[in-house]
Amino acid sequence: MSKPRIVVIGGGAGGLELVTRLGRRLGKKGKADVVLVDRNSTHIWKPLLHEVATGVLDSGLDEISYQGHSGSNGYRFQRGTLCNLNRETRCVTLAAIEDEDGNEVLPARSLEYDHLVLSVGSVSNDFGTEGVSDHCHFLDSPAQAEGFRKALLNTFLRYSGEASHDNPCITVGIIGAGATGVELSAELHDASRMLKSYGFTSLGREHLKVHVIEAAPKILPVLPDRISDAVHKELEKLGVNVHVDTRVTKVEANRIHTSDGDPIKIDLGVWAAGIKAPAFLAELGLEVERNNRVKVHPTMQSLDDPRIFAFGDCASCPQEDGSVVPPRAQAAHQQASVLYKNLCAVIDGKALKAFKFQDRGSLISLAHFDAVGSLMRAASARSLFIEGNLARLFYASLYRMHQRAIHGTLKTGMMVVVDGLNRFLKPRLKLH
Ligand SMILES: Cc1cc2nc3c(=O)[nH]c(=O)nc-3n(C[C@H](O)[C@H](O)[C@H](O)COP(=O)(O)OP(=O)(O)OC[C@H]3O[C@@H](n4cnc5c(N)ncnc54)[C@H](O)[C@@H]3O)c2cc1C
Repeated sequence: MSKPRIVVIGGGAGGLELVTRLGRRLGKKGKADVVLVDRNSTHIWKPLLHEVATGVLDSGLDEISYQGHSGSNGYRFQRGTLCNLNRETRCVTLAAIEDEDGNEVLPARSLEYDHLVLSVGSVSNDFGTEGVSDHCHFLDSPAQAEGFRKALLNTFLRYSGEASHDNPCITVGIIGAGATGVELSAELHDASRMLKSYGFTSLGREHLKVHVIEAAPKILPVLPDRISDAVHKELEKLGVNVHVDTRVTKVEANRIHTSDGDPIKIDLGVWAAGIKAPAFLAELGLEVERNNRVKVHPTMQSLDDPRIFAFGDCASCPQEDGSVVPPRAQAAHQQASVLYKNLCAVIDGKALKAFKFQDRGSLISLAHFDAVGSLMRAASARSLFIEGNLARLFYASLYRMHQRAIHGTLKTGMMVVVDGLNRFLKPRLKLH
């Protein structure tokens, strides 16, 4: 009897953890052929992208090569972008791969599956706001985060070279005060604080102005008031201009127009105001929500096809209270471990388990300045407010849990030590 073929599309926060477990348990023992497909050749944990964008984190140090990781973890890796699905023949099509000059490196290919998992994440949703796609940066992928970092660096260079100019401040407009927008604004201040020591002697913290613009009446709209209020105060202490109840109506090359009236002049704009699942998901013949998320049962099987699973940001997974699982790294991590058990159960002919999201709380990191958040108490619906070093420790632990799932405990421990050493050995800002 041939081995069951499990194909996982998307090696992000959830997908890479899933194939690692499947590869170790089934792939290495020859019980299944586990294949990971990703459009990139390396993985970087998405919640680190705002640090990549400001140069505080060198993506080269934290990224993982899928090819290298697959070899030692019992799965196969295929680079490619999913573009089509044929449920009759149980086959996915991967688009041709081209080099930077548009020359074909690999032709379009097809891949057969017995069980298919979609974990392709999400992309920014600009809700059709005029000028956003042309004039704003996004932080959906490592390439986009790097693109913003280079644009920021060029802006610093331009300002540092100009002896006198009308506007002595570099102004960054961040649209959306969810976790991404808020954390990015604090990281930008942290980066500007370090500029002097890296040779930009004419630039300092006072030369960076950050506007964070939020349509809701408060920042971090989905989090409890206590966290929003504490973070709002911290941002104001840093000198961030926080605009709430302010809807962005249009973005131009150097201006953000808002419902408030006066446009805000900017050098750089970032859109961080909402997400949706990639549009191609709506064309695969599977039932999706309005924002393209694939509708799944609590077992994470799609409503249309029990052989197709979806989880993480790209899936709409119902919960007992009528809500759906939130699009967070914490949820993708938990879903990966239940889906791993469910795929093993499918192969063994056993019953599948329903996924129940355990909210462990929400933490917001304000670079080196502070961290604030809440932890959910076990066996109770009440949360515990934490801040400072304790909050920072719990914030970092989410990434360590991801590392542990893909590298194991020993290697993660060594990485913690290396990261500590790198703080002394490497520059704190990536300026090249
Ligand atoms: C700046 C930022 C900060 C964040 N901070 C937090 C936080 O503090 N806490 C938290 O819980 N969450 C946070 N999030 C949200 C979190 O990153 C996501 O919820 C999480 O990454 C979702 O995991 P996923 O596996 O569903 O998708 P992702 O991690 O996005 O992975 C998707 C993968 O699919 C691949 N892919 C996409 N399309 C295709 C295709 N067509 N073919 C092949 N491969 C494809 C991508 O290359 C990627 O590797 C943050 C997000 C951002 C952007």
